[in-house]
Amino acid sequence: MQADIDTLDPDAPIFAPQAFRLSDREADLIAKSRRFGRHTLAPRAANHDRDATFPIENFRDMHREGLLGICIPHEHGGSGADFKTYCLAAAEMARYCGSTALSWNMHVCSTLWSGALADDLEMSAADRDAHRARRDIHYRRILDNGAVYSQPFSEGGAAAAGGVAFGTEARPVDGGFLVNGRKIFASLSGAADYYGVLCTERSEGGAASRRNTLYLAIPADAAGVSVTGDWDPLGMRATVSRTLVLSDVFVPETAMLLPRGVYFLAATRWPHMFLTLSPTYLGLAQAAYDFTIAYLRGEMPGALPVKRRMFPTKQIAVAEMHIQLEQTKALWFQAVSEAGANPTKQQVLRAYAAQFSVMENALAIAAKAIRTCGGQAMLKNLALERIFRDSRCGSLMLPWTAEICLDRIGREALYETDETDE
Ligand SMILES: Cc1cc2nc3c(=O)[nH]c(=O)nc-3n(C[C@H](O)[C@H](O)[C@H](O)COP(=O)(O)OP(=O)(O)OC[C@H]3O[C@@H](n4cnc5c(N)ncnc54)[C@H](O)[C@@H]3O)c2cc1C
Repeated sequence: MQADIDTLDPDAPIFAPQAFRLSDREADLIAKSRRFGRHTLAPRAANHDRDATFPIENFRDMHREGLLGICIPHEHGGSGADFKTYCLAAAEMARYCGSTALSWNMHVCSTLWSGALADDLEMSAADRDAHRARRDIHYRRILDNGAVYSQPFSEGGAAAAGGVAFGTEARPVDGGFLVNGRKIFASLSGAADYYGVLCTERSEGGAASRRNTLYLAIPADAAGVSVTGDWDPLGMRATVSRTLVLSDVFVPETAMLLPRGVYFLAATRWPHMFLTLSPTYLGLAQAAYDFTIAYLRGEMPGALPVKRRMFPTKQIAVAEMHIQLEQTKALWFQAVSEAGANPTKQQVLRAYAAQFSVMENALAIAAKAIRTCGGQAMLKNLALERIFRDSRCGSLMLPWTAEICLDRIGREALYETDETDE
């Protein structure tokens, strides 16, 4: 068991293993991610942010470190991290480069959803056997060749929020599917080897239904795949989330990352699957707080060694940031710890509350860090300016944007399923 490190260490674990009762295995995987972030990601982050370029070398290094396969089940040769362990590892990585952690999440979800989540859901024995054989193809590409997967779901309409069927369609043809559609905000566009696309399986003349959602791994070099548009956003610049266009792209049946019907089942029975964007923003909240402590103590590398901690207003601001961070961590830790199949209504409401709190509080803490540290702290030679811009993106991310979380908590707290006022 790792000793809990002095909290003044800016690289101390966000969740100290002893205090949060982590097993040695969990703590080791999480520490590996933190070390990787500190030594490999941090020195590269500013350049990729400035140029809005994708840090593909980070993913090559992740392959060497075994981090691309963190959630690939043991039976397939991966590290077999469960949902909670992955979330804690991702939060650690995000302290050093938010864009890489967010992009890593898109990759890891292709293995977590097809791995531990799928194992938790009902399916026929035949479907399970076929799924195991198919996912092994994907996992071998990742473990043996360092293949990187992405997760372009958003289309600019109501589909990514779960309201209607995806407009991207897969028409069954001999031996596979013909896929047509357009995905916006496709992080890792131009860099991923496979795009994990959600689309609607639809035969000629058939109606579109969310129940027929397919999750397909489309090779980046398949005929008919192209990336369009530019990418010059406020934050998360190194995710390079351009537009993906799919025109009559043929993929074989083995491209299915989940069996037919299982994505819809997962979305309804395993809703915490949509909490996986939050670890990045929890890490950013921690990074903004750590920056403030180091800066006010006069210990921030790259800044003048001037102490500012003796002013009562700084101390009050730090106390407020500390309380907000601890509140956020406590709620989020509970939500990621209890994630699983068939959660109770209260657990789902708590997951929405955790997502909302992380996304909104990361931005609030980063904004307060700038106000408290002062003008020199928002210069681009220090990380806080990037952390602030990156943290702005969290509450916008579908399917659980801050607004959607509020909307659902309010409605579901007041109404039972199928209850109306008529
Ligand atoms: C840095 C970054 C990286 C991203 N990477 C990816 C990626 O890799 N893959 C991917 O699929 N997407 C990705 N996204 C996209 C993201 O998840 C959203 O789809 C995108 O931000 C939506 O933008 P929009 O303006 O089209 O939202 P809109 O759909 O126009 O929604 C605007 C707002 O309206 C509200 N709203 C929408 N629907 C509802 C509803 N049903 N009920 C109540 N309120 C609603 C929400 O608050 C939402 O924020 C990324 C976004 C960012 C910022």
